[in-house]
Amino acid sequence: MVGPYLPVVTLIGELTILIISSIIFCGFILLILTFYSMKSGNILFPRFMRAGLLFLEGLMRALFRLFGFEDSDFLKIIVTLQNSLNWKAFLAIPVHDRVVFIPHCLRSNSCPAHLHDEGLKCRECGLCRVGEGKRFLEALGYRVFIIPGSSFIKRMIKRYHPKAIIGIGCLMEVKEGLEMANQVDIIAMGVVNLSDGCVETTADWDQVYKIALLGIPAKNVPDEMKKYLD
Ligand code: SF4
Repeated sequence: MVGPYLPVVTLIGELTILIISSIIFCGFILLILTFYSMKSGNILFPRFMRAGLLFLEGLMRALFRLFGFEDSDFLKIIVTLQNSLNWKAFLAIPVHDRVVFIPHCLRSNSCPAHLHDEGLKCRECGLCRVGEGKRFLEALGYRVFIIPGSSFIKRMIKRYHPKAIIGIGCLMEVKEGLEMANQVDIIAMGVVNLSDGCVETTADWDQVYKIALLGIPAKNVPDEMKKYLD
């Protein structure tokens, strides 16, 4: 009974071993590229790395853990890769077609602002850095939204049809936001918060301004922001 089927079973077995070995081999290549990127800050083959890391997400997370890295390291490298892939396209988009989404968890606990149809109406009271950030970004020509959740992002995208987004937030929010933007063909750059939580979080404002200034001629940059030009 087994005789005629034996070559087929053997072939399936060999193919399975070949596929599994190839996946593990790719995983190790990705791991080496990732460690190199993390150490040097220089990303090699970003398109291959991003596709591979997302396609083999389960395996890559396991390998990361095996080598003593956290899940957050995995997410950070995904965000960095996505930013580096979007960098050039973002540069080319005029600032009036860009928006910035700032999470409202950055505000002070004593924030006097109220929520309205398009997010928090910041009074620039000086109790947190959101007011200053909003002022800087609007001076550059950005539309800025201080939002309590992703439903606002979807609504503002429908309303204003931006071509590019800067999204600020915690690691998971930024990763998911970048994926969502990819799906709707919007160029997105993510900036991960320096401290997480639900209240009084801290944004990486230097990074926000560096990204915000991409593609903006130096003559259009207010003096107080010139220090963020590369
Ligand atoms: S600067 Fe704006 S967001 Fe920050 S506490 Fe004041 S009103 Fe609220």
